[in-house]
Amino acid sequence: MLNLQAAVSERILFNKNLKGPDSFRISVNQGNSGVQRDFTLVEQVENILGVHEYTGHGVRKYGDHNKTHYMAYDLQVDHPSWQKCTPVFRGDIMRRYRHTVTEENPDYYYKVYDKFLKYWYK
Ligand SMILES: [Zn+2]
Repeated sequence: MLNLQAAVSERILFNKNLKGPDSFRISVNQGNSGVQRDFTLVEQVENILGVHEYTGHGVRKYGDHNKTHYMAYDLQVDHPSWQKCTPVFRGDIMRRYRHTVTEENPDYYYKVYDKFLKYWYK
């Protein structure tokens, strides 16, 4: 999940019976107004679905279960698509990121605090 208050509803299903990389499904609740706002640019779709969901949760298995969910947000900020996302989008992602990292790894949050200053709502 992006976080407990996420605008996007995520659901990931792993299929243990397949050989090779696990397949999984990403579900998005299109009736959610947050989705309408998040998915206005192709880079934002890529940043959330491709980077956070697919690479973060799917490939690298980041998540709440092992307190690595914040690392999926790190991937988003470090990905080239981030620079094309709108300031409002980035601010909203940073709000979710901060909520997650302060619970999972507060020390890390203070280490990368500059990142939050840089991308917080402008
Ligand atoms: Zn997530």
